[in-house]
Amino acid sequence: MSTTLAYAAQSAQSPLAPHIIERRNVGPDDIAIDILYCGVCHSDLHTARNEWKNTLYPSVPGHEIVGKISAVGSNVSAFQVGEIAGVGCMVDSCQHCASCGEGLEQYCENGFTGTYNGPVFGGENTFGGYSQRIVVDQRFVLRISHTDNLAAVAPLLCAGITTYSPLRQWKVGPGQKVGIVGLGGLGHMGVKIAAAMGAHVVLFTTSPNKREDALRLGASEVVVSKNAEEMAAHLNSFDFILNTVAAPHDLNPFLNLLKRDATMTLVGAPESAHPSPDVFGLIFKRRRLAGSLIGGIAETQEMLDFCAKHDIVSDIEMIAMQDINQAYERMLKSDVKYRFVIDMASLQA
Ligand code: NAP
Ligand code: ZN
Repeated sequence: MSTTLAYAAQSAQSPLAPHIIERRNVGPDDIAIDILYCGVCHSDLHTARNEWKNTLYPSVPGHEIVGKISAVGSNVSAFQVGEIAGVGCMVDSCQHCASCGEGLEQYCENGFTGTYNGPVFGGENTFGGYSQRIVVDQRFVLRISHTDNLAAVAPLLCAGITTYSPLRQWKVGPGQKVGIVGLGGLGHMGVKIAAAMGAHVVLFTTSPNKREDALRLGASEVVVSKNAEEMAAHLNSFDFILNTVAAPHDLNPFLNLLKRDATMTLVGAPESAHPSPDVFGLIFKRRRLAGSLIGGIAETQEMLDFCAKHDIVSDIEMIAMQDINQAYERMLKSDVKYRFVIDMASLQA
């Protein structure tokens, strides 16, 4: 074992503060990474504050990790010391269930192990990217090919794959009208990726001051979702809507914008439930409401390569590790443009 400096929450009420964790020794299949940058996902906040009622403390969040490989185990040939690599939301899964067999480790029937907060069905805690170093099985390490703006690549490891995966699953492409709800970390990646896939992208926001940014990021139209008239202009017209909102809200105004047979997929995971949607709105148009969880490792690599090819990175605001608690408060006010990324060089012993 070796000790590593990290930032942790000790309880749901305590702010994040310096904390020493232990990382395992590098085993034959392991890769050790010196963390350069870590994105700040709203899931980090949900977890640090126990909003999903499953947090193991101390909690070291962070699952948008980019760093430099410092050591590799004896079985590792695909990665070398000195290379840049990424780690996303998962660090392990059972590898033998049907989902793992299909490369869908996020749906591992025995429960994947999160990069932080341990196995999803319970078990020993794991510590994420708000730290100087991490040791990860090589199967869960991603290759980063666009290395010129690494800090802006980090958010692809969660925000990128969480939006890419449903956009692919529901076959978004040219000729389709696609809605993205919420312009935060996930939403702004959704806009960029859906636009790169060739869709006509409409961004729904509660923040009218984000209109210009949404257009710059790739949206063709922007709708302020609190404005009933603006919403009514789009009734029954969408092929697909991806909803990234981190708070409970009425889903009906968005479901009513779907065409017959079209789907709205939820990726936002609020602390408490959305009000139940109107059944008539669903059945009279055979509309569908779905969910989606991050993406598998192979698909994450596919997304990273897609983003490199289309020159897509995140729009970031770099912060020092010491600024994390203020960053969380700003995230709660939808005041992020559009992902905070921690410069891990700020975390000095
Ligand atoms: P974020 O950066 O805070 O963005 C969320 C956006 O939602 C805000 O910027 C805001 O956009 C909108 N919003 C916030 N409160 C709202 C409200 N009360 N009503 C309507 N809109 C509101 O968060 P994020 O990191 O993108 O994460 C979004 C959610 O996805 C979180 O719940 C997170 O835990 C979850 N998540 C899920 C997965 C998965 O695998 N499914 C993966 C990662 C994250 P506007 O200002 O434009 O309205
Ligand atoms: Zn995340």
